[in-house]
Amino acid sequence: MIPFNRPAVTGHEEQYVLSAINHGGLSGDGAYTKKCEKWLESHTKAYKALLTPSCTHALELSAVLLDIREGDEVIMPSYTFTSTANAFALRGARIVFVDIRPDTLNINEQLIEAAITERTKAVVVVHYAGVACDMAQVMAVADQYQLYVVEDAAQGVMSTYMDRPLGGIGHLGCYSFHETKNYTSGEGGALLVNDPSLADRAEIIREKGTNRKQFLRGQVDKYSWVDIGSSLLPSDLNAAYLYAQLEHAEAINEQRLGHWERYNEALQDLNRDQIIDLPYIPPECVHNAHMFYVKTADLAERTALMSHLKAHDITASFHYVPLHTAAAGKKYGVFSGEDLHTTKESQRLLRLPMYYGLSDQDIDYVADVVHQFYNHS
Ligand SMILES: *Cc1c(COP(=O)(O)O)cnc(C)c1O
Repeated sequence: MIPFNRPAVTGHEEQYVLSAINHGGLSGDGAYTKKCEKWLESHTKAYKALLTPSCTHALELSAVLLDIREGDEVIMPSYTFTSTANAFALRGARIVFVDIRPDTLNINEQLIEAAITERTKAVVVVHYAGVACDMAQVMAVADQYQLYVVEDAAQGVMSTYMDRPLGGIGHLGCYSFHETKNYTSGEGGALLVNDPSLADRAEIIREKGTNRKQFLRGQVDKYSWVDIGSSLLPSDLNAAYLYAQLEHAEAINEQRLGHWERYNEALQDLNRDQIIDLPYIPPECVHNAHMFYVKTADLAERTALMSHLKAHDITASFHYVPLHTAAAGKKYGVFSGEDLHTTKESQRLLRLPMYYGLSDQDIDYVADVVHQFYNHS
């Protein structure tokens, strides 16, 4: 069986976890957490990077940090993971869903302005498959209406837009190190604070609402409860595992891009003959091969292709059910404008196996089985 995903193991994970154990500092903000945060800051140019237990937690931290409250509106695509919306709904916000572009499956930047009202507080963009949204347009609209921009860059570690790392462009950026992502600590995440005016409070919210970090730096002589917050520090064991992955980020990224290119070439004829659609990468984007997907004619064809692959020992996977069609999405959100592409594209998309360590032979086999399905060679 060719699995859909297999978390990367690069070699130093065991050694670093053991070293964290022997060091005796297993709680948050230990030596490996600092190494990971330094790596993230130097890689993304973020003003401050803070490790969190997941991307979900980084998004929730963002919602508290931006003072999202009852009645505020937050604009985002409906084609995303639950956490993108849930983090803001938890603070009482009304989620305003905007349609996606059919080419990248990212929020349609041209439709954001029409969704803005007096109550709009933030725009949350999702860089689907590690391919950037049109950030020039997103930032311009946000600037004009004085809105915050949060990048859900869960899938975007090592990707860039106009040479700028994803997660490092909006006011805040959120990364995921879940085992389904390119770099992992099993569960994990990070908040990138790009707006320096948000940094002190981000630290406080992450430290149970206390100014403990300022105390540790000697800036205050005792620490106390100063704001609302939660416990948003991962154990240094997780950070030790993650650091081994980040050290190998370049190698993992290059190998994944090789896999992506191989799929792309092997399936190009089906794309050319308009049998399936393949991913589109805008010229200003450098992606990270987070996923390789094909788009079939419709839902029925996708279901049939998925079964055909399964019958040939290949695990392929569809993706998000649009949030505006889900029970909680209807309760906490509203769709702005018309759903021209969100539902349609979500029903056509099928993700093929993609992971560090996938063999060329397996990629060629997957491509052959897809060709066989379409009786095309
Ligand atoms: C994976 C993912 C998340 C959630 O990440 P966790 O680290 O599992 O909380 C959020 N948003 C998007 C777009 C994702 O792909």
